[in-house]
Amino acid sequence: MAETIRTKVLIIGSGPAGSTAALYASRANLDTIVVEGSQPGGQLTITTDVENYPGFVDGITGPKLVEIFKKQAMRFGTRYEFDTIEKADLSERPFTLTGGSNIYLCEALIIASGASARRLGLKSEDELMGYGVSACATCDGFFYKGKEVVVIGGGDSAIEEAIFLTKFATKVSIVHRRDQLRASKIMQERALKNEKIAFVWNSVVEEIIGTREEGVRAVKLRSTKNNEISEYPCQGVFLAIGHIPNSQVFSGQLDMDAKGYIITKPDSTETNIPGVFAAGDVQDFKYKQAVTAAGTGCMAALEAEKFLESG
Ligand code: NAP
Repeated sequence: MAETIRTKVLIIGSGPAGSTAALYASRANLDTIVVEGSQPGGQLTITTDVENYPGFVDGITGPKLVEIFKKQAMRFGTRYEFDTIEKADLSERPFTLTGGSNIYLCEALIIASGASARRLGLKSEDELMGYGVSACATCDGFFYKGKEVVVIGGGDSAIEEAIFLTKFATKVSIVHRRDQLRASKIMQERALKNEKIAFVWNSVVEEIIGTREEGVRAVKLRSTKNNEISEYPCQGVFLAIGHIPNSQVFSGQLDMDAKGYIITKPDSTETNIPGVFAAGDVQDFKYKQAVTAAGTGCMAALEAEKFLESG
């Protein structure tokens, strides 16, 4: 049976934003619970090497980094709950958040629920997800040993995934809708230097061809230049076309932009509802880095503390 749990500060999400908020809130002696969400640790858990989080000269793996964040927050008394929030009532305090397992009542709420991988929106993509289509090279790359795969996208994630996949696949083709990458220069250089990586420019995937029984056989491509259709053989398809903020639970209650990012006041993590704060990728459409998420998580906890002090 669902338990009703009361806490001063409830944090939704356990990535760098959520765990940093938890560290600051619990270290300020506030009763703090983190609801971990369906992907505990967030997107970092499906990242390979993190080379740009300060403090780790030789880099660190994503899963190790989130484990350290969690341990540090728990040292000050943060409790982590393996649960996912499905419903929110922010109309009065305490706020009521209903999870799959428990109901949470809190005086201040920090939303750090991050973002999830964007999908192309194709029927064949849904059908073959897990059967040759993946949104996580780190999770599934191993299955493509000796095969040829396609990575869709032109940002840092696409390049990172493609480079990772060259450990297993014989050929990795990056399919991008333009003829210029969005990825940072350093990542571009690494990809261009890698002999196993090929680029298919000005192309979008119209269909993924295959069956659940036999896996993926090819992708149907459309040229964005002349609409020409072609088939490109491959045995795996990896999606790396950006992310969608995990804010759906709060729609109609919190102010959001057209893409669903929660709007916070300038230089603050305050939302339109006093006592509700948003940090990390659920409100950051610009930087989307682990270190900036941690930074806004810190801000949210300090602002929540101030809010609770003022009554
Ligand atoms: P992103 O930078 O938003 O790039 C998404 C890419 O997917 C873009 O190239 C975009 O094309 C393409 N795309 C979007 N929708 C598409 C569609 N429907 N069909 C085909 N292509 C589509 O996302 P990201 O690569 O996931 O990166 C997110 C953030 O994380 C960035 O700030 C990035 O710097 C950071 N990151 C950093 C690292 C690292 O430093 N090691 C690794 C991963 C991510 P257009 O370019 O035409 O818009």
